[in-house]
Amino acid sequence: MARDRKRQRPNILITGTPGTGKTTTSSALADAAQLRHVSVGDLVKEKSLHDGWDDELQCYVINEDLVCDELEDLMDEGGIIVDYHGCGFFPERWFDRVVVLQTENSILYDRLTKRGYDGAKLSNNIECEIFQILLEEAKENYQENIVVALRSDTVEDVARNVETLSNWVKNWLS
Ligand code: ADP
Ligand code: MN
Repeated sequence: MARDRKRQRPNILITGTPGTGKTTTSSALADAAQLRHVSVGDLVKEKSLHDGWDDELQCYVINEDLVCDELEDLMDEGGIIVDYHGCGFFPERWFDRVVVLQTENSILYDRLTKRGYDGAKLSNNIECEIFQILLEEAKENYQENIVVALRSDTVEDVARNVETLSNWVKNWLS
């Protein structure tokens, strides 16, 4: 499908359940492909793009409109990697590739436990991964041919995913 205006550099969304390696993969890819990594979680904290703290879920209540306003100009320029554990509220036109990272349950469990997750927060995230919630959300919101699910169990997986994606970026204009 032809676009009427191709961005000079592509935008990539890296999504997946917390702990699947979004930030690790995004920052390595940003180095390898000379893209700019935007961690939405960090941006929300830095610029207070939220409506307060949710005690039950133990996270900020993200204000989706403020986040989208904040990112609009950057996304328009291109060359951005957006790193977030959600994908349904971004404008579809922002992304040329949507990557969903996936991790085997026992590995994810250990990563999240190490990060201090327990109780409902831990089990909600494990369930999110078991039911492939982010992959479903990605397929619902973006054209199927730009959505790709990538395994992220080992450091070798990270290296391979970064290589695959940076090759794709290199070929973007050719
Ligand atoms: P996310 O941003 O998706 O929450 P992170 O990139 O912060 O995940 O990774 C969570 C933890 O798991 C970090 O300690 C990171 O080093 C480790 N990790 C992430 N992906 C992998 C992987 N594919 N192989 C080994 N360790 C990983
Ligand atoms: Mn992260």
